[in-house]
Amino acid sequence: MNQYLKLGKFSFGMGDRFGQQGRAQLQACVLATELGAEFIPVWNKSNREHTFIGTEPASLRAEADAAVQALGWVQPYHVDADHIRMETVDRFIAPSDFFTIDVADSIGQPAAPDAVKAFVSRHPELVGSLAIPHIESPFTTTRAEVEAVAAKFLLAVQEAGRIYRHIAAAKGAANFITEVSMDETDRPQTPPELLIILAALSDENIPLQTIAPKFTGRFNKGVDYAGDIRQFEKEFNEDLAVIAYAIDKYGFPPSLKLSVHSGSDKFSIYEPMRRALKKFAAGVHIKTAGTTWLEELIGLAEAGGDGLEIAKEIYAYAIGHVDEFCAPYASVIDIDKAKLPDAHTVNAWSSDQFVAALRHEPRNPAYNPSFRQLLHVSFKVAAKKGDRYLAALRKHEAVVARNVTGNLFERHMKPLLLGA
Ligand SMILES: [Zn+2]
Repeated sequence: MNQYLKLGKFSFGMGDRFGQQGRAQLQACVLATELGAEFIPVWNKSNREHTFIGTEPASLRAEADAAVQALGWVQPYHVDADHIRMETVDRFIAPSDFFTIDVADSIGQPAAPDAVKAFVSRHPELVGSLAIPHIESPFTTTRAEVEAVAAKFLLAVQEAGRIYRHIAAAKGAANFITEVSMDETDRPQTPPELLIILAALSDENIPLQTIAPKFTGRFNKGVDYAGDIRQFEKEFNEDLAVIAYAIDKYGFPPSLKLSVHSGSDKFSIYEPMRRALKKFAAGVHIKTAGTTWLEELIGLAEAGGDGLEIAKEIYAYAIGHVDEFCAPYASVIDIDKAKLPDAHTVNAWSSDQFVAALRHEPRNPAYNPSFRQLLHVSFKVAAKKGDRYLAALRKHEAVVARNVTGNLFERHMKPLLLGA
């Protein structure tokens, strides 16, 4: 397998749409490390986010470097070109050292029949009864089944190989971390499918360190997991078993691990994940993004005055454009429109009321997941406000930072590694 830049065992992906919270985010890693839960910080921003906000990938590198310097962080840190494809990767190559290669669009596009046949012939170990340590009953597959799975994923894997080699040629294979993401697709990948995908990725010689499958259940933006937690736990455990097996069998980097694109805030699966990671002594990469933008809004609302004003303006605009804002996110939000307060109501709210509706405290009766999801997808409204929004963040930096750090540390890092 090719050379690669090594990623630490536990890593935490943080998105920061407006580029103001790098230090507050890193502070969460500092606090976690002090408690023995060392997370390597990874700042991630997708092409879509850059486009909406009007930023260049180099700005994320500058933000990460500045945060690291300000806090004297001595552990590694990385800058993730999130969900890039061949058309979008080039401007990310210089400033990024972590690439999330998104091949979801190629899943289901049929691969050449000859390539499928060749793949299955190359991998007779995938056909028949396959006993994987820590999975109760062996996977049993027929040649036709493996061919069907290969037909569905092979083109996507070949595309991942093409993008990987493009980056490696430009940057040098030893200088970056590779993730492959398949989460933005319709159907979850089962553990046996994950194994077949990994076998195919090994044929491409990709020194894969993180893979983001789509898991069972709904990963809605900014709110908790919705689905069968026991089924998730079983699948997550089996995925960990498959990964341990694939490291051995296919020669992947020992650091290969799952990447959970959480859409932020999947609190109810953190405990099952923690148990499974402990059982397998496995690492994990967690990717969050919008949770930090929502903490900015919470901080502004908490600050009161012009901070609360701007938060209310953003909601008033969002509620006036619900359908337009929600349409692109239909598969990752579940908003009950009847639960969305009108602008008039929200304009009369105090700081406490706004914060209680938005802050992700599932046990607080005033918490409103529909309100939170709508604001999650409404960051473009803040982007349109441009300097006025940024100035508000700077003016209320202390209260915003307290919320950003506290959220990542208390609600994410602690439950994941230390237990609630
Ligand atoms: Zn994703």
